[in-house]
Amino acid sequence: MSTTRMLTGDRPTGRLHLGHHVGSIANRVRLHRRYESFFIIADLHMLTTRNTREDIEQVSRNAREMVTDILAAGVEPDRATFYLQSAIPEVGDLNTLLQNLVTVPRLERVPSLKEMSRDAGKEEMPYGLLGYPVLQAADILCVKGQAVPVGKDNAAHVEVTREIARRFNHLYGEVFPVPELIMSETPTLIGTDGQGKMSKSRGNAIALADDPATVRRKVMGMYTDPNRVRADVPGTVEGNPVFAYHDVFNPDRAQVEELKARYRAGRVGDVEVKEALAGALNRFLDPIRERRARFEGQPGLVDELIFQGTERTRAEVHRTLVEVRRAMGLTSAYTQLRRRAERYRKAVATPA
Ligand code: ATP
Ligand code: MG
Repeated sequence: MSTTRMLTGDRPTGRLHLGHHVGSIANRVRLHRRYESFFIIADLHMLTTRNTREDIEQVSRNAREMVTDILAAGVEPDRATFYLQSAIPEVGDLNTLLQNLVTVPRLERVPSLKEMSRDAGKEEMPYGLLGYPVLQAADILCVKGQAVPVGKDNAAHVEVTREIARRFNHLYGEVFPVPELIMSETPTLIGTDGQGKMSKSRGNAIALADDPATVRRKVMGMYTDPNRVRADVPGTVEGNPVFAYHDVFNPDRAQVEELKARYRAGRVGDVEVKEALAGALNRFLDPIRERRARFEGQPGLVDELIFQGTERTRAEVHRTLVEVRRAMGLTSAYTQLRRRAERYRKAVATPA
């Protein structure tokens, strides 16, 4: 009886967007019935860049909205376990133990950490942020995750997890499966500003929860080919975010090819290309909106799911930690001390 386990998740920093969908959520939806699925609400990871009281006060609402977005995307509530990371202290215990299996220079080579630090406006790298991939290893390994569907910015973190798992198994015996990265066909979705990946923190995202008018407004404001000042100037399709989105979200391939050809020839206005994209995106989001409305119509349901999921995961993590401490010899270290203490107590209670 060995079902493959999937572990992935998101930081509760705001609503999920199209980038999350193509980078990770589409794979969660595709795989969650086949695998035993754990979806983490990574609030300890949030603290590595956002740790004010105000940030933390938003965790419960963001968690609820995030999970609602994932369910709306098509994950069935009874086929996945959602849990709040900070409510399981043993995740932190495992993090502490794993920290010794990786070096500082190895972590300094992880490219996403410098980006995150910069995006968060930090002058210097916080200690916790440098340890982000180690904490992620603790998340994956504490439930013995084997499949990890994430976007490209996260791939290097999963590689660190694989190294840590191998190192642990080598030093202390086979405890952890070495997890596989599951990368999507679109590992990075560019933002509406064309300046880098779509991200909650950069204000260049189209949220899965945006209404049709908002989606249309954001699409109309999207960055395109800056050299194209008039509709009759030939434009560039490659690297143009409007066409990148057409490629990913517009199932009408004939329309996309026709728009590209006319764009390259300077025979179509930006407005027409963007109108077509707004239509395609709204058609993509409509079924998600319908499912979201169903979940929002049952207030408390998502909270109950997260609560039950957290309790279940806590028990799972506890089992893993018992095994880890045993494998490392920490359990027997304390047992030896306790036995000697017991003998001592007996000796002083019954003097010869
Ligand atoms: P933040 O801006 O707060 O870091 P984020 O939008 O980067 O948020 P995360 O919670 O860090 O979101 O990422 C959650 C998952 O979504 C990760 O697997 C990540 O790789 C994936 N992801 C995030 N943004 C994109 C994107 N633009 N394209 C593809 N995948 C993405
Ligand atoms: Mg991120």
